[in-house]
Amino acid sequence: MSRILVTGGSGFLGSHSISAALAAGHEVRATLRNLDKIQQVQTMLGLPGSDGRLSFHAADLERDEGWDEAVFGCDYVLHTASPFPANQPDDPNDLIVPARDGTLRVLSAASRAGVSRVVLTSSFAAVGYGPQPPSHVFTEEDWTPIQAANPPYILSKTIAERTAWEFIQNSGTPELSVVNPTGIFGPVLGDQLSTSIQIVKGLLDGSFPPELPDMWFGVVDVRDVVDLHLRAMTEPSAAGERFIAVSGEPVSLLEVADILRDRFGKLASRVPSRSADPSPNASRRRSSSEKARKILAWSPRSRAEAIVATAESLIQLNLVNSA
Ligand code: NAP
Repeated sequence: MSRILVTGGSGFLGSHSISAALAAGHEVRATLRNLDKIQQVQTMLGLPGSDGRLSFHAADLERDEGWDEAVFGCDYVLHTASPFPANQPDDPNDLIVPARDGTLRVLSAASRAGVSRVVLTSSFAAVGYGPQPPSHVFTEEDWTPIQAANPPYILSKTIAERTAWEFIQNSGTPELSVVNPTGIFGPVLGDQLSTSIQIVKGLLDGSFPPELPDMWFGVVDVRDVVDLHLRAMTEPSAAGERFIAVSGEPVSLLEVADILRDRFGKLASRVPSRSADPSPNASRRRSSSEKARKILAWSPRSRAEAIVATAESLIQLNLVNSA
């Protein structure tokens, strides 16, 4: 069994990563930028007290302190931490600087500590926001251009991933694998909701207009994203590769709404049932997970399963606004 550092242990993906790594028998270190969150994370993980195989370390993407201590003696790093706010800041550097410099801090510390491999959570944002025609099916060969006029989050993920590959090219170690997830859904473990989850919550809460915007996105379940990280962590041929994490074709907001109304009946009474007219600018941004399926034998859950699991967990944790 290995010792794994998970950065961003308080996050949606980070907390599931800790849980899966512990379940697989590994020892886990988790970074939090604020150790006040330890109890909240333990509650999310269903660990009433301390588990001897899990420890927490303070480290902020914007500061040097803590990273060397956190990574020392680890075999692998899953670098999930990155700012993912619901609203885009006026200054793109608010996201670019922590995403890029934080990635460099993690990779440099991992290199100094002799870590074998870092798996970086990038995003489909770093793949699919270029000038390709709507018929294009995005693969790992595609890159979002840094010059394109994209929102700060998309820029931050693209620049952070580019910077990571450049670092590895120059330093030689550690090995790097990258996972590029589309919208991540699936069961939430606590009440701090990732931006992707707000879509399902917003539909259940009734906070969308009665005519849903003509919006499309790729879907993948958080449990499958973690599974892909763990496969990319140890499979020899995954070193130096990026892997898109998506379950099938993109869904429209209306399709997500239909899944929720079909499955949850009365509990989904506020979910709209109509879509606005198709927007000429709405790109579906189709992408392929062929590479992860072939090289890593990755087999994700269906989109509907991911959406239903999100809603079930929100309802169970009383996080749907019933007022
Ligand atoms: P999340 O729940 O918002 O988690 C983000 C994590 O990053 C939190 O643990 C947060 O810590 C940490 N973080 C943010 N700024 C930090 C800083 N300056 N220093 C240290 N830690 C910091 O979001 P998520 O959905 O789990 O996202 C995890 C990763 O997946 C991110 O890299 C994101 O870009 C990527 N991703 C997400 C999606 C999606 O649809 N959710 C899709 C593609 C890629 P605090 O708790 O202290 O804020």
